[in-house]
Amino acid sequence: MQALMQDRQLLVSSLLTHAARFHPRSEIISRMAEGGATRTDWAGLAARAGRLARALRRLGVRPGDRVATLAWNTTRHLELYFAVAGIGAVLHTINPRLFPAQIGWIADHGGAEVIFADADLAHLIAGQRAAAPALRAVVAMTDAAHMPPAPADALCYEDLLAAEEGGPFDWPEFDENRAATLCHTSGTTGDPKGVLSSHRACVLHAWLCCSVDGLGVNRRDRTLLATPLFHVNGWGLPFASAMCGAALVLPGPHVDGATLHALAVEERCTFSLAVPTVWLSFFRHLDAAGLDPAALPLERVMLGGAAPPRALLRRFRDAGIEAMQAWGMTETGPVAAVCRPLPEHEGLTGEALLDVRARSGRAMYGVDMRIVDEAGRPLPHDGESAGHLQASGPWVASGYHRGAGGEVLEEGRWFPTGDVAVIDPEGFVRLTDRAKDVIKSGGEWISSIQLESAAMSHAAVQEAAVIAMPHPEWQERPLMLAVLKPGAQVTAEALRDHLSGIVARWWLPDEIRFVDALPHTATGKLQKTRLRRMHLPAAAV
Ligand code: AMP
Repeated sequence: MQALMQDRQLLVSSLLTHAARFHPRSEIISRMAEGGATRTDWAGLAARAGRLARALRRLGVRPGDRVATLAWNTTRHLELYFAVAGIGAVLHTINPRLFPAQIGWIADHGGAEVIFADADLAHLIAGQRAAAPALRAVVAMTDAAHMPPAPADALCYEDLLAAEEGGPFDWPEFDENRAATLCHTSGTTGDPKGVLSSHRACVLHAWLCCSVDGLGVNRRDRTLLATPLFHVNGWGLPFASAMCGAALVLPGPHVDGATLHALAVEERCTFSLAVPTVWLSFFRHLDAAGLDPAALPLERVMLGGAAPPRALLRRFRDAGIEAMQAWGMTETGPVAAVCRPLPEHEGLTGEALLDVRARSGRAMYGVDMRIVDEAGRPLPHDGESAGHLQASGPWVASGYHRGAGGEVLEEGRWFPTGDVAVIDPEGFVRLTDRAKDVIKSGGEWISSIQLESAAMSHAAVQEAAVIAMPHPEWQERPLMLAVLKPGAQVTAEALRDHLSGIVARWWLPDEIRFVDALPHTATGKLQKTRLRRMHLPAAAV
């Protein structure tokens, strides 16, 4: 028997409409890319998103088209989140910190015809027009007074909006399974892959973020969004904040300790999210300036993207700020598991409580998680067996844009995360390793494979291997081990110069060591585990 319930689609536009109607005066504050700050609210944001939606249609953007962004955390970027997805097009956020050739490749792979770039980033795409021939329009996200010199044919964001009517916009209804956003992974084992999130996935993920045992985002929150809007939908916070009408504080292009501290205090922020490296620099700033973390208005923070050092969790505890760790990835929305103590842990204090907080997270309803052995057999959740972590759920990817990577699901349902983990009987996941050898520098990934091939493009280099070296500030930095061709000569400086023409500056290895040979497996692959034992301090292996 069929139920008699309304068949309403879960669409991103419904979040904005709701926020504008029921939380119109809840604030959105933003530092801007060209300097200065703006203050608006959900009603103001919805009005400008409506103008932008009209402007997008006038630019010829149709349902299903991709619209790319190369932008920092600002209200304009937030307007694009809602306007692009709201008219049924797909928001393709591109990481501006990538090397220009990677940006061009990703823009082309996404297939956008229109890209919106902050004024200070527009030059990155100007140099990549040949790499992404489908791009027919670049919009500089600024006003007429701050237009960038390149590209010369860039359109002006504020002029486009000013030319449109300001009345309420009638957001179209369509199938909730249509794509709302496209975000490329870091491409550690090959080219980056595109993850397409549906409207339904974005809305359900927002509900998880707003649930009390999830991230607990609520109307009282004033959220300082230190995670970039170009990384997995800003960890879902734009949608979650609209769902519950929380205030949002967007830091613009700078997420240094001083900026975050100033915004947290001036805007009375209750909640914030960032990768551990950002939090480490935040505390360094507080210490250097002699500021007391206990005086901050922050009530809780979320840390994800990499395992937070225990010392960092301790600093939050000492400041009376709840530090929630969460686990996830681009392919899981990103939040799949959140670590919050259970009633059973009440009364725990000191290091015992930190033992709980140090776990990566616990699956929330909607995401199922398991660990399997090499043969794909499920392993017990006994807190001891380590296995390949797999996830399944309505905001977990079922495949990649343009079929990259082929069939990815195991048994038609389980997404292999590439992480190795233990799950305890209470359901807490603890990451023990990563299957890949990626270098995590400040929450961003550096591909060891790409660095190796860049080194090997130097005439004097026979072979190179890159491993992650622990770093107090960036968590990990690349250490390169290079074997020279017989009789060839090159200095570490010259090799770094060569690399700087191929990869982003922050990818450059902190150290290059020349060695006589590199160890290989029987199938000829580099033995990175042995390299780590040989070249890293014992504590880091
Ligand atoms: P990304 O797709 O760039 O968001 O990266 C996802 C990866 O980040 C995961 O597969 C993990 O390896 C890592 N990661 C995310 N959250 C955590 C966490 N809480 N602890 C350790 N590693 C994490």
